[in-house]
Amino acid sequence: MFRNFKMVSRVVFGRGCFAQVSDILKEKRSRDRSVMVFLVDDVFENTSLKNRLPLEKDDLLIWVSTKDEPKTKYVDELRDQVKTYMADKPANLPDGVIGIGGGATMDLAKAVSLMLTNPGSSADYQGWDLIKNPAVYHAAIPTLAGTGAEVSRTTVLTGPEKKLGINSDHTVFDQIILDPELIAGAPNPQRFYTGMDCYIHCVESLEGTFLNSFSQAYGEKAMALCQDVFLSDPPDADDKLMMASYCGGMSIAYSQVGVCHAMSYGLAFVLGTHHGIGNSIVFDYLEEFYPQGVREFRRMMEKSNIDLPRNLTANLSEAQLDTMVRVALVMEPLWENALGKDWKTIMTPEKIRALYLKM
Ligand code: NAD
Ligand code: ZN
Repeated sequence: MFRNFKMVSRVVFGRGCFAQVSDILKEKRSRDRSVMVFLVDDVFENTSLKNRLPLEKDDLLIWVSTKDEPKTKYVDELRDQVKTYMADKPANLPDGVIGIGGGATMDLAKAVSLMLTNPGSSADYQGWDLIKNPAVYHAAIPTLAGTGAEVSRTTVLTGPEKKLGINSDHTVFDQIILDPELIAGAPNPQRFYTGMDCYIHCVESLEGTFLNSFSQAYGEKAMALCQDVFLSDPPDADDKLMMASYCGGMSIAYSQVGVCHAMSYGLAFVLGTHHGIGNSIVFDYLEEFYPQGVREFRRMMEKSNIDLPRNLTANLSEAQLDTMVRVALVMEPLWENALGKDWKTIMTPEKIRALYLKM
């Protein structure tokens, strides 16, 4: 069976297009007292962006924390906060949920929009195609580029038992607004780590056994854009990085990621290491699997003056290491994409453990 890929319905791209958000949302507002919920990364709470948010009278603005990667508990709390706010409004549901921030905030917006129309806890839906009801309208406005969360059909959540996305066609955004001016202020090393997430998506997709022309077309373009941004630093680097993120996301959507992402999930689950930095830490030790990609990654690191954290696993207990290995090995499609159908003979628990111990 071939995947019937659900894509984002509408895309705006361009410097300054953020100014158009109000008009775009106007079409979605159902009544005079309509409510749009804005989930905005709290890093912007004391910046000029706050005054540029296109809020109408009854809209709800929630500053979200991205100190931790999104947890199911936090998603449920945000959903409850929206429901409480709606209690004395004419409609039961808001007309939309708009996420403004990096991958974490975009994932929160996806998850909250889904949980407003699906009963229970978001932890119940971690997995594949468990969502029954369409989400409320949801849109994303990225302020960091690289994760591809703006185009993916997942929202990555850490639950009580697992770190796993809510993968569903209903997760996909109805609208994305890609304004390169919004990522211009992202500081290093965060900009670099999130950008490397995209670069690693390209390497893992292009080197994977699941590769096909759809993924290759997007992956090669995204890879070339990353090379330009991180090796030549052109004047329009922000525009290019934004399109790299988009194309990188499209590439893995129709193939899969690989060794680095599987191992980075283990680091995240046990140590709480965030996605971009975790991928960068792991990738530096994967020359055996991705020789060319790792060498180029190191050149990019040097050019951006990045010092990776080391000795992360030095003080882990045996139990923690076991968990790390277990969490990584659960990601079977990722291993199969990277190493083929017989991946279990190549990537044994001992091998993966030895790799972790180097980090
Ligand atoms: P992030 O959203 O976690 O943000 C990282 C930091 O940068 C935060 O402190 C944030 O406040 C800050 N920040 C964001 N924009 C900024 C700006 N313009 N200026 C200054 N600071 C800014 O980072 P990310 O790398 O974009 O996203 C990582 C998250 O995305 C993880 O939670 C990961 O699980 C998720 N993810 C999701 C998908 C998906 O397909 N859904 C794919 C990859 C990663
Ligand atoms: Zn990633």
